[in-house]
This record gives sequence, structure tokens and C-alpha cells, in this order.
Amino acid sequence: MVRANRGTELTARSWPTEAALRMFHNNLDPEVAERPDDLVVYGGTGRAARDWPSFHAITRELTNLADDETLLVQSGRPVGVLRTHEWAPRVLIANSNLVPDWANWPEFRRLEAEGLTMYGQMTAGSWIYIGTQGILQGTYETFAAVADKRFGGTLKGTLTVTAGLGGMGGAQPLAVTMNEGVALCVEVDPARARRRVETRYLDEVADGLDDAIARVLKARQEGRALSVGLIGNAAEVLPELLRRDVPVDIVTDQTSAHDPLAYLPKGVSVDDWSDYAARKPDEFTDRARESMADHVGAMVGFLDRGAEVFDYGNSLRGEAKLGGCERAFDFPGFVPAYIRPLFCEGKGPFRWAALSGDPADIAATDRAILELFPEDEKLARWIRMAGERVEFQGLPARICWLGYGERHRAGLRFNEMVASGELSAPIVIGRDHLDCGSVASPYRETEAMADGSDAIADWPLLNALVNTASGATWVSLHHGGGVGIGRSVHAGQVTVADGTELAARKIERVLTNDPAMGVIRHVDAGYQRAADVAADQGVVIPMATS
Ligand code: NAD
Repeated sequence: MVRANRGTELTARSWPTEAALRMFHNNLDPEVAERPDDLVVYGGTGRAARDWPSFHAITRELTNLADDETLLVQSGRPVGVLRTHEWAPRVLIANSNLVPDWANWPEFRRLEAEGLTMYGQMTAGSWIYIGTQGILQGTYETFAAVADKRFGGTLKGTLTVTAGLGGMGGAQPLAVTMNEGVALCVEVDPARARRRVETRYLDEVADGLDDAIARVLKARQEGRALSVGLIGNAAEVLPELLRRDVPVDIVTDQTSAHDPLAYLPKGVSVDDWSDYAARKPDEFTDRARESMADHVGAMVGFLDRGAEVFDYGNSLRGEAKLGGCERAFDFPGFVPAYIRPLFCEGKGPFRWAALSGDPADIAATDRAILELFPEDEKLARWIRMAGERVEFQGLPARICWLGYGERHRAGLRFNEMVASGELSAPIVIGRDHLDCGSVASPYRETEAMADGSDAIADWPLLNALVNTASGATWVSLHHGGGVGIGRSVHAGQVTVADGTELAARKIERVLTNDPAMGVIRHVDAGYQRAADVAADQGVVIPMATS
């Protein structure tokens, strides 16, 4: 079993390398990872290392790495250690990248089977996954935005139907109840549903469809927040809910639709799943896509009845279209529907973890965030609720969305707290790749850009280069995360606050320049809100017109 070291004793040669080592191991902690024995962290087959020999080699290299050396990781396998300098990242990671004409699942799987690559997802192969909390905050924000847009600022008295209770999808029930609503969550795998109940993300599991409907409608009627899991296949349950005319207000989905082998087709049991998918991937893919077409067909049915329906970033619409659902793109993705205005401000999923392993360190950083941004009520509500309701998985961690001009202030404050001893050990500061300026993904983060630049992938490349040039501790450049192979290019960074003056200088640059990429990207695409932020905050954009 893998578990990150805690406390202040170093096994590596310095805190930056110790941080990479602990976060790498933390991704595979059984509390954090979905299938640690297979090195799978989350999101279908998102891995932290290519295989166990690579895992041990990465561990060894990080343990020995000097402060003027950089470890190169190619799709989960350590391939070189180079002499660099103290401002350079200690680790540079490239995961799952393919030349565009070859970038499809069959070719990827062929290469994966040959042992030449691995699927890195977003924060699996870049060692900054913090368990379901990471997605909880984004999901909470998204449902809050749905509430603002359609239901007067709260989900009280509304019913949300969704599916998938995996590493990311497991956040949905709690995000809905935090917004005071009722959630019905369909999941094929009973073990996944049970796990969410154990970690208090899901309130209860129903004894079948009739029971589930009765429970959620009673709670909806009473305006009582409640989340109910239902063991079943979404491709069967959603059409049935539509047929029964259940009053559903919001519909979305977080099954692993980005990978057709990770979506269970109708008529296949959970027990037969992996064997069937491995034996007959093409047939399985066709059946999964047909099922997704039925699933999305029902979502479109709810849309026609007036429900708020959105794709939650798993490529479900794209796969359903391939399965024959002509109207799959009738409903929008969540980014153009709710998140893009935040991206224009350089806002995105800022996160940090306490290398001490001590929850008191996160409590102290929570207080620091509340003091730093007293005017932001939504942020304060989230931080307070997270403190009360989020169970830590692995190293204690926190996430909140902060924008340009805010992130570096938080990072510098944390670094001061490490220096002064208010925190018992250093903090790592990173983010999801799903951020304002770090991803090209036409079905998700860059869907329906104002200037049509959805598929331009220069931005995540620039983002990785900028973070490398600014002093991040490790930088990653991936392909295929979130929405699957062929559909996204994205970059990540993690920077260590070890209380030193050097760390402060790096933090100031990285946490300014990284969100600046979001502002720049959205100014370039013609968003006025981004242009205003750039003008207010002095982001230099040579060819801005306003
Ligand atoms: P996961 O593989 O851990 O979980 C997926 C779950 O879906 C599993 O529990 C599986 O049993 C269930 N499932 C599969 N087929 C089903 C079916 N037909 N009916 C009901 N349940 C079914 O994946 P995850 O980490 O939870 O991610 C879910 C999806 O969300 C992925 O496609 C991922 O890429 C995407 N994602 C979205 C965001 C976002 O911000 N919106 C961020 C990251 C990832």
C-alpha cells in the first residue's frame, strides 16, 4: 500500500523534491485513488505512473534529486535526469501526447498495450489530485450558478438527476445538497455508491427505482436537501424516469463517458465489464455509444420539458452523437453555460495540500483565506462549509476558486505562515488542468469561444512554458484529459511554499503568470470582461483593442 510520508522529516534532499514525492505517493493512497493497485487515480484509467517498475524508479529518483536537477517523466515513466538550475522545475512531465493524426483511442490503446504510454487524465499523472474535494468545489460552484440562473439563487425544492459516482462524479450529491437541493444519482457499481456514503458525500442508497423516486419526490416536496443513490444503468433509468414523467428540474451526468470502455452499456453486468471490454473493445465501444445515445436522448427529452440540462465535461454528447443521437448537442456544456465569466477573471481551481499531514494546517490556511478576501461572501460560504463537511482523503487539502491578483496573495501568505511556524510543514500549491488559461478542449473548457478558437492548442503549451519559466516546482503537459484522447490538450503546475525567500519569489511569479494566461486567452478571444480585468490589473496585452 502506498501512503505519503507525513511530518517534518525529509526522505528526499529538499522540500521541493520531498513535496513531489509526497504528492506522487498521495495520488496512490487508497483513500485517494480509485484503483491504487493498478496505479489508477481517477477518471477512467487516469494513472500516476505507467507501471510498478516506473513507480519505484520515480520514487528513487525523487529521493536522490538535487536542487539543480530536473527529472523528466514521459507518460508515467522516468526517462532522464538533467542538470538545470534552482529556478527550474524539479520535475517536467509529459503525459499521453500523440501527434494529432494519430490521436484516437484505438491507437492510444495499442501504444498503451505495448507499454509505451499511459493515460494521465489531468491531475492523476501530474500528482496533484486531492480526492473528490477537488471536483466538489467546482461542482458546488456550477450548481450555485444553475441556482442563480434558473431557481432564484437556491436549489431548494428542486430535483437534480445525474449518473456516475466515481472519483469526480461522487462530488455531485454533496454539491447539490450544499445548494439545498435534492439529487438522484444513478450508478451501476454498488461499491462506488457505498464508498460515497462512507465518505458522507451521498446521504443514502435506495432499494430500487420506485423507492428512489418516492424518497426524492418527498424531499423535493418538503424543500429538504437530500441525496439518494440508485444502483442501475443510466441508459435505462433516465428513459424510464422520462416515461414516468418524474418532475426533474436539472439533468447532468458524470459517468466516464470520455472513454467508451469506461461506460457500461445496457445489458452488460458490472462483473463482466472489464473482461468484455478487454476482449472485444470495438464491439463494447459500439454498444456503449448506443447506450449513451439512449441516455442523452432522455436528457434531450427532459430539456424539451423545460429542465435545465447540461453536459458536465465528460464528452457524453460527442459519444452519444457517434452512437446515433442526432440532437446530442441540443444542450450546452457547463463552461459556456456557467463558468466562462469566471475564466475571464483568471478564476479557477486553486488548491493546496498540507505536507505535514496535519488537518490543523489546513484549518489555519482556511482562516487565512477568510482574512485575505473578506469581501467575497461566496468564497467564505464555501470555505466554512468545506471545513465542516469535507472529509480529507490522503494529505489534508483545500480548494477554492481564486482569480488573477488573488492567487499569488494567498500563496505568499501561506509561505509566510510556513516561515513563521504557524504551519507545521510546507504547503504545495497547484491546480486542476481545468483552468482559465491552461487547456484547449472544444467540448469543455473552450467550447463555443467567442471567436471560434475552440480547438487552438497553443494556449496550454504557452501555459506550460510560462510556468516553467516562472519557477514552478513541477510542470505537466497532457493530452486527452477530461474529455478523452483527441479532444483536449492541457497543462498543470505545482509550486511549493517551503517558507524560504526563494519560494516567495517563485510563488509571486507563478501564481501571477499562471492565471494571467487565462485573462490573456480570453482577451484574445474577444471577451470584454477579460479586457476590463486586464486593464484594471495591468496585464500587458500588446494587441488588445479595448
Ligand atoms: P470514474 O471512472 O471514477 O467514475 C465513473 C463512474 O460512472 C463509475 O463509478 C462507473 O461505475 C459509472 N458508470 C459507468 N457507466 C455507467 C452507466 N451506464 N450508468 C451509471 N453509471 C455508470 O470517473 P470520474 O473521475 O468520476 O469522472 C467522470 C467523468 O467526468 C469523466 O469522463 C471525467 O473525464 C469527467 N470529468 C469532469 C470534470 C468536470 O469538471 N466537469 C473534471 C474532471 C473529469
